[in-house]
Amino acid sequence: MTITRTLVTGGAGFLGSHLCERLLSEGHHVVCLDNFLTGHRRNVAHLMNEEAFTFVEHDITKPFFTDSPIDNILHFASPASPIDYLELPIQTLKVGSLGTHNALGLAHKHSARLVLASTSEVYGDPLIHPQPETYWGNVNPVGPRGVYDEAKRFAEAMVMAYHRYHGVETRIVRIFNTYGPRMRRKDGRVVPNFIQQALRGEPLTVYGDGSQTRSFCFVTDLVDGIYRLLMSNETDPVNIGNPREMTILQFAEEIIRLTDSASTIEFLDLPVDDPKTRQPDITRATEILGWAPQVELEEGLTRALNYFRQLDVSEGS
Ligand code: UDP
Repeated sequence: MTITRTLVTGGAGFLGSHLCERLLSEGHHVVCLDNFLTGHRRNVAHLMNEEAFTFVEHDITKPFFTDSPIDNILHFASPASPIDYLELPIQTLKVGSLGTHNALGLAHKHSARLVLASTSEVYGDPLIHPQPETYWGNVNPVGPRGVYDEAKRFAEAMVMAYHRYHGVETRIVRIFNTYGPRMRRKDGRVVPNFIQQALRGEPLTVYGDGSQTRSFCFVTDLVDGIYRLLMSNETDPVNIGNPREMTILQFAEEIIRLTDSASTIEFLDLPVDDPKTRQPDITRATEILGWAPQVELEEGLTRALNYFRQLDVSEGS
């Protein structure tokens, strides 16, 4: 039996660690690369003793060499939360540009297939709603989010260049808001913020008037879409996300209801260039991959809540 070897950059991150688990369960040998900039050892601690799992501490903005065969590369290394891009703007640009270049060079050398983790942020503050893959976006290159948005847009261009010029087999997944266990508690994104605030009885910090919309996908659904994309022949970008859209204010109210919390809502300033709407058009994923999200918001949030509750117990805070 031939062994499939798959390398995951950012494998100790939120999405990367769930991907490693899924790949292992599909029988892949997994090489997990991470430099722990925003990933964490605890996310993969339970995999370290598995024979089919190898961890390498490495920063993918520096070239990575190996003599072992590699069949697939999933390039998932990047800061991914708006406060991370503010704190790590240069690293965000570097991993999207140099990191993608290095991952593609590795894919080319090993004749491996590469999946790029791209993002709904390539659509910026969208003028088309919901967003299909054919929309080119509305991005401010010089705003604080530009470091992430433009790095991912550059990464997509680089992936297509390697595909067209070198014939590398490539896939691009545009990931919409995703949540679930292993999000960092201080990640700053809306799901960990609201859940922890609700669990502690603190006010939920809604930015702006809360009328901006998002659509939240549970992590196992996302990982399933990515795995199907990896196995497909699709080289054009594919949106993966849950199309159920709601305002951030409605989302805050839903978390308060689910946690039965006495928390109130506090309105704070809206961050610069915060997109007003976001909802994936998943027609392509449905038609090409036969994919659709399965986990309802209430079920997914309950699983995320349990994770954060258990973190509070284990860390005593
Ligand atoms: N947001 C909020 N309160 C928070 C954190 C985020 O109201 O404590 C809002 C944020 O302004 C944005 C939405 O929630 O409109 C989603 O933010 P997040 O940082 O999760 O990701 P984004 O979708 O902006 O990349």
